[in-house]
Amino acid sequence: GFKTGIVGLPNVGKSTLFNALTRTAAAQAANFPFCTIEPNVGEVAVPDPRLDKLAGIAGSKAIIPTRMTFVDIAGLVKGASKGEGLGNQFLANIRECDAIAHVLRCFEDGDVTHVEGRVDPVADAEVIETELMLADLESIEKRLQNIVRKVRGGDKEAVQQERLLKVALAALEAGRPARTVEVAEDDRKAWDMLQLLTAKPVLYVCNVSEDEASEGNEHSAAVAKMAEEQGAASVVISAKIEEEISQLDADEAEMFLSELGLEEAGLDRLIKAGYKLLELQTYFTVGPKEARAWTIPTGTTGPKAAGVIHGDFERGFIRAETIAYDDFIACGGEQGAKDAGKMRAEGKAYVVQDGDVMHFLFNA
Ligand code: GDP
Repeated sequence: GFKTGIVGLPNVGKSTLFNALTRTAAAQAANFPFCTIEPNVGEVAVPDPRLDKLAGIAGSKAIIPTRMTFVDIAGLVKGASKGEGLGNQFLANIRECDAIAHVLRCFEDGDVTHVEGRVDPVADAEVIETELMLADLESIEKRLQNIVRKVRGGDKEAVQQERLLKVALAALEAGRPARTVEVAEDDRKAWDMLQLLTAKPVLYVCNVSEDEASEGNEHSAAVAKMAEEQGAASVVISAKIEEEISQLDADEAEMFLSELGLEEAGLDRLIKAGYKLLELQTYFTVGPKEARAWTIPTGTTGPKAAGVIHGDFERGFIRAETIAYDDFIACGGEQGAKDAGKMRAEGKAYVVQDGDVMHFLFNA
């Protein structure tokens, strides 16, 4: 599955947010830096109203949303790249994630200690980014040394690696994160394998106070500007509100949201933004037993998409019977779509589209 690491300075609201996300009390929030030390992992259902509509039409007994994984990576502080504040473990945890959700404190509250003694989310972002850049610099220098002999021996992979490492090094030395480097399609795989921390896509999560959740504030506006300059994304959220909503049932939550003038829970927006950031999309399988959503990267072809369900589906892939979501709805379901000639037989080269309702045929 796809993993997003939640990072940020201590006391910015990471655990509160993670708890709300996963609706567990596992990650205890407390007004004390370093309170969450173990990385906490949680699975989150990706909200998608299309799935309920499909299930309604097909009379599916069960509805199974697709899921995303969030990891609460606590304790990243100034000096982390030097191994201070349990730094190295945290950096290793970030390395394993596909994307970073960077929580920034945009709320004023004299009762909650700020590690730097002031509210300045743009400066906070720089503190963390600097640590990640220092960690990347160190690992690049190590790796360049380690492949010297292979490069001399003419090893093609090593030569490519060295070239990419040097490009990343130049960016970092100029003060730019590795995600600002433009990578050629042919280099994409090797580049991803470098697993540079600052190459991962970043979503800034502006944690504002309860009464600013709909509009944000001057701090979140400054973050949005920074994000745009960096090619990153940003969302405004109130972790406190999300925490409260996570304890309500669906009807109560809707009422609470409308009282606050909010259309959609911040967590739904956060999950969607994460999905977009990772360039993921959804296809569906729909039947009387269950309606289910599956996650694939944008651009995935038929067999690979089938492989998300089961390896055998990919290996024995023959073809996919496909109905676009809009056609499925407009025709009142699978039979209607079939009758209207809207069910297509698609082969191995078919690029699955967001919302496709798929039925795979394969050799067992
Ligand atoms: P972490 O160290 O980043 O995981 O931060 P926590 O989630 O443990 O939160 C630290 C403290 O800030 C806790 O006392 C939270 O209740 C409080 N807190 C978190 N979000 C908000 C917020 O939006 N507004 C206010 N006033 N307090 C918050």
